[in-house]
Amino acid sequence: MNCKKCDSQKVVKIGKIKGVQRYKCKECKATFLENDNFDGMRTQKHVIAVAIGFYFDGMSVRKIQEQIAYIFKVEVSQVTIHKWIMKYSNLVYDYVSSLKVEFGDNWHVDETAIKIKGNQHWFWEMIDEDTRFMVAGHLSKTRTNKDCTILFQDAATRAVNKPRFIFADGCFAYRKPFNKVFYERCNKYTELIQNVGINSRRTNNIVERLHGSLKDMLRARRGLDSMEKTELLLKGWFVHYNFLRPHSTLKGKTPAQAAGLDIDVSNKWESLIDQATKWQATQNGVRYCE
Ligand SMILES: [Zn+2]
Repeated sequence: MNCKKCDSQKVVKIGKIKGVQRYKCKECKATFLENDNFDGMRTQKHVIAVAIGFYFDGMSVRKIQEQIAYIFKVEVSQVTIHKWIMKYSNLVYDYVSSLKVEFGDNWHVDETAIKIKGNQHWFWEMIDEDTRFMVAGHLSKTRTNKDCTILFQDAATRAVNKPRFIFADGCFAYRKPFNKVFYERCNKYTELIQNVGINSRRTNNIVERLHGSLKDMLRARRGLDSMEKTELLLKGWFVHYNFLRPHSTLKGKTPAQAAGLDIDVSNKWESLIDQATKWQATQNGVRYCE
C-alpha cells in the first residue's frame, strides 16, 4: 500500500472505518482508506470520472444522474455530481497549468460574447494554430485592456516559446495589452497582426470550432448561475478541449498530443485526476487532510 497523496511506502495502519482499513502516511502525514477511490471520496473513482466526462461531452446533470444509476447502480444527487465536476475541474486545471508547452509560431486571439444569467460577459481565448491548443482563456464582465492583458500574460506563462505572430480578430484594440506583454525594445520578435482580408478568414476558421463547442457546452448548463461557477466550468472545459478531445485537423490527436505533451489519458478524466492528485502532493509539502 502506497500513500495516495505522495506515493510513499512509509504508511502505517491506524484502525478501520466501517470495516475498511485506514492508513497514515509517515512522509506527508495524510490519512486515507484502503480502497481505490480518489482521496477523500466515497464514490468509486471510475464513476466520478465517467460522470465528469459525460458532462463535458454535453450531457445534462439530470441525465448523468440517471446514467450513473443505470450503469453503475450508484445513487447520487445532482448536487454531488456538480461538486465532483467543480472540484476536479479545478484540480486538473491547476495541474495541467503547471506544464510548460511548446507551441507553434502563429497564435490567434479573439473574444466572444456569452450570457450568464442574462448578463453579457466576454470570453477571451488565445489559440495556437499548429496544435489547436487553447493557450489561454479568460472570462470577464468587461472588455478592457486589463482583461486582455490577463489573457496575454496567462498565454505567455504557459508557453515555453514566444510566438512569431499574434493574429487578432474581433473588434477589440489589442495593441496596448500586446505591447505590455510581448513588446521588447531591442528584440521585436513577436508581431501583432490585426486581421484584415485573408488573415481574418484564417483566424475565423480556427476560433469558430472552439466557439461552437464552447457555446454548445454552455447552452446545456442550467447551473450556470454565477461567474464563479462558470469560471470553474471553463477550467474543466479547457482540460476537456486540450487534453481529451481528438481534433479532426490533427489526425485524431488531441491538441496536447499535437504539442508533444506526454500525459497519460488512457482512462481520460480518471488518469488526469490521478496524476493531478500526485502532483498536488508535491506542491503542498506537508498537508493534513482532516
Ligand atoms: Zn504521503
